[in-house]
Amino acid sequence: MKLDSTCTSALPVVTMPTCSTPPVLAGQVALVTGANSGIGKGVALALAQAGADVVVNYRDGREAAESVVASIAAAGRRGLAIQADVSDERAVVAMFDRAIRELGTIDILVNNAGLQMDSPFERMTLAQWNTVLAVNLTGQFLCARESVREFKRRGVRPEISCAAGKIICVSSVHEVIPWAGHVNYAASKGGVMLMMKSIAQEVAPYRIRVNSVSPGAIRTPINTAAWSTQDAYDDLMRLVPYKRIGEPEDIGRAVTWLASDAADYVTGTSLYIDGGMTLYPGFETGG
Ligand code: NAD
Repeated sequence: MKLDSTCTSALPVVTMPTCSTPPVLAGQVALVTGANSGIGKGVALALAQAGADVVVNYRDGREAAESVVASIAAAGRRGLAIQADVSDERAVVAMFDRAIRELGTIDILVNNAGLQMDSPFERMTLAQWNTVLAVNLTGQFLCARESVREFKRRGVRPEISCAAGKIICVSSVHEVIPWAGHVNYAASKGGVMLMMKSIAQEVAPYRIRVNSVSPGAIRTPINTAAWSTQDAYDDLMRLVPYKRIGEPEDIGRAVTWLASDAADYVTGTSLYIDGGMTLYPGFETGG
């Protein structure tokens, strides 16, 4: 059976009715790292549609970041593009300083920036290992640390949210599925899982919630080779019981829910958004 993936575009983002209630994230400021492409862009737009002002972090690609800011403005929210390499401590501190100065505070961090540098294990260079760990894991640590500092400084504003702040880490199914040829990437995402849970445990008493979304195969530039030809797509579907690729909007809706007070009792958890990729698809037909 061939199924295309267009059905998702008709689904709404998590937005409250406009008649009397404000959007779920009204009055909140989100910072999304790596928001000029793929999942980060989808998340930034979903958060804006849910009422948040959004800082669009990018490392390279200013034009793409400014176009996301323009879409945020078209949704009636404030957007601000800030260039920063998330693996650079000074750049991250400066980004948060500027975001807080210009938009007032940060309520929601989406730790999304990430990359792959794939290699057979015995040929993997130390540079490939270090770069992936620096961006995917250390970058999330640095941004989470600045966010927690701001959340604790400001505390809860009950009229805005039940929580002092929300962190959503973009992990991967590869936090639990080993991935040959991608040892650095899988190690970074496994690290994100226990970093997320440990931070969640430590900051919960301050009413700070920390969770992950763990995507399966999402249609973005990071994995073009896995979906851009029919053969590759069919091959990919062997790993996806739901038989369609995910779209950035699938992640945007989940992040919006996790950031909202509808998820107020949810902390320290990984939400797999993977069309069943973590359900051992090899056993689909009984094994
Ligand atoms: P993408 O390549 O479209 O986006 C990655 C983003 O991260 C880009 O905006 C890039 O500029 C940014 N980035 C890279 N290094 C950076 C740095 N040092 N500082 C700041 N920004 C930096 O790919 P994507 O699929 O949208 O990936 C987003 C996140 O989703 C990543 O963490 C990735 O591991 C995760 N993820 C993606 C998939 C998928 O199937 N696409 C699956 C699981 C997890």
